[in-house]
Amino acid sequence: MSATHANNAPQVVDYELSTELLAFRSQVRDYANTYLGKAAEWDAETAFPRSAIDAAAKLGLLRTTVSKAHGGSEMGNLASCVMLEEINAVCPSTGVTISVHNSLVNSLVGKWCSEDQRSRYFPKLVTGEWLGAYCLSEAFSGSDAAALRCDAKLQGDHYVMNGAKLWITTGSEAKLFIVFARTGPDRVKGISAFVVEKDYAGVGVGKKERKLGLRGSPTTEIVLENVKVPVKNRIGDEGIGFTIALDTLDGGRLGIASQSLGIARACIKLIEQHLAGQVDAKGRPTASQPDQWTFADLASDLDAYRMLTWRAAILRDRGIRCTTEAAMAKLSASRLANRAARAAVAILGQQGASGASTAERWLRDARITEIYEGATDIQRLVIARGLLAP
Ligand SMILES: Cc1cc2nc3c(=O)[nH]c(=O)nc-3n(C[C@H](O)[C@H](O)[C@H](O)COP(=O)(O)OP(=O)(O)OC[C@H]3O[C@@H](n4cnc5c(N)ncnc54)[C@H](O)[C@@H]3O)c2cc1C
Repeated sequence: MSATHANNAPQVVDYELSTELLAFRSQVRDYANTYLGKAAEWDAETAFPRSAIDAAAKLGLLRTTVSKAHGGSEMGNLASCVMLEEINAVCPSTGVTISVHNSLVNSLVGKWCSEDQRSRYFPKLVTGEWLGAYCLSEAFSGSDAAALRCDAKLQGDHYVMNGAKLWITTGSEAKLFIVFARTGPDRVKGISAFVVEKDYAGVGVGKKERKLGLRGSPTTEIVLENVKVPVKNRIGDEGIGFTIALDTLDGGRLGIASQSLGIARACIKLIEQHLAGQVDAKGRPTASQPDQWTFADLASDLDAYRMLTWRAAILRDRGIRCTTEAAMAKLSASRLANRAARAAVAILGQQGASGASTAERWLRDARITEIYEGATDIQRLVIARGLLAP
């Protein structure tokens, strides 16, 4: 870490969760144990976990990042991280659905939308009547998000929107889309953000992706053909869409870091159970030393990267910019999830490779944490840029 960062970065040291958060974590653990038992089935059948999402909505898990004034629980980013680790340790498909709804949609609506927009959409979003989706990526813009081409032309009291968004989480289930579209020629300042309702004429759900992992989470194309989007649905001024997109991703990355921690934790538990079961006839442990070292390294990194994640969440809850810290959390936790999943498959051997074990599902789900909401090398660029900035 550069001297600049060590001296100037806001430092957060708080190792203890409040009584309220501990109670919340145990409530979410109960939820995960009660409602996410079909995770393997949802994965095998590429089925959306509707029952789990409905139960989450009833328990208030779809409103953690929304203020009380707008019907939320106002628990914030740290609580969301605690919640998402628990959910993802059982079902990452449910986890990403809840993460996108809370951290990419509700947070954005709360921070960037007008009071009129908030009062029109929050009643549906906080109850889960409507799920939200975040539509930034396109065929030719993934890591280079500013290359997006989806077009919104102002015509009187509405914009006419044309384009196609790709790889949209919850695409087929969402009723509200946050869409980033081009309103001007400037690469960055020509991008604006809009709330687009699924029922607007010209909005269609296109191809559903057949994915490596997170198969219970539907990822689809969203097609926009001559969609009339009212001017009152533009989020903020014209030209601030890219700022909104990036600011929101800071919070989204905390969700994916927490997802990664959940996956890593589940893999470490599998390894622990396997090693604990290796005993000789007299009940003495026989686990090999290299397997014990791997297990120890993973368990230590899990605790370390949870602290990185919570640090960024606390900063965001305090209204302090956490772009570098969120990228550090996502980078480290997503790599850990992949290391832990690979180790689980390796240490469990044929059991790990079998579709009957959860290890192979963790391996497939983990891989995606290093791709979306900024691929690994993009996180490294963001961190370096943050640390090297004057
Ligand atoms: C399951 C899933 C769900 C998704 N959900 C959503 C969603 O809800 N909404 C949404 O908008 N998008 C979503 N995405 C898209 C996701 O955000 C993009 O896949 C991601 O940004 C990477 O873009 P890309 O796939 O086009 O890869 P590319 O940008 O082509 O990158 C490919 C590789 O090249 C590297 N690379 C690219 N540029 C650079 C560079 N400048 N320097 C160094 N390395 C570089 C990357 O690190 C990466 O490893 C989802 C993706 C997946 C897989």
